Amino acid sequence: MTWNDANPTYAVGAWRLPASGITYHINLSSAPVEIRSRVVQVVQGSFAAWAAAIGQQVFHYGGTTRAGAPRQDGVNTIAWGRTRAGIIAATYVWYNDAGEAVEVDTVFNDRLSWAVFDDSGGECQSTPIAYDVQNIATHEFGHWVGLLDLYGTSEQDLTMYGYSSGGELKKRTLGAGDRLGAAAVGR
Ligand SMILES: [Zn+2]
Repeated sequence: MTWNDANPTYAVGAWRLPASGITYHINLSSAPVEIRSRVVQVVQGSFAAWAAAIGQQVFHYGGTTRAGAPRQDGVNTIAWGRTRAGIIAATYVWYNDAGEAVEVDTVFNDRLSWAVFDDSGGECQSTPIAYDVQNIATHEFGHWVGLLDLYGTSEQDLTMYGYSSGGELKKRTLGAGDRLGAAAVGR
């Protein structure tokens, strides 16, 4: 594995977070039962990585919800559900003519295996085919911030690299381009 966390590349979308920040809700009942008790903490950890790069607490946890995703219903929802085949997770952003996000939903593919891996390195990962929730969530929340996927070979160690694999953890921590992008568009 190569590490190129220092790559300063980022790409920006057409939307920005509202200046007041954004309140998100988690559909816990949709989460895989074996990790459900840890999802809130893990999601908060993923948002915290971006808030640190932005330098401002722009993400507010609004509690659990029964709302589904993706659905424009006024609730910024994080849920497990159906995605297109081959998609690990997807983020949907609805934004107004001014480019301000009015709703954001993230859906994790409920046909895949999900895990919350120990990052100490001391734990043998018995189900490496599973996707680490924090790893994937941190990538998806980059889309909330206003960043787009990257696909260049030299970008593969950045959080916004558009491909992932089971057991991957490196997207949990932001690379140089991720931090630069967050500072540029995150507020
Ligand atoms: Zn993406």
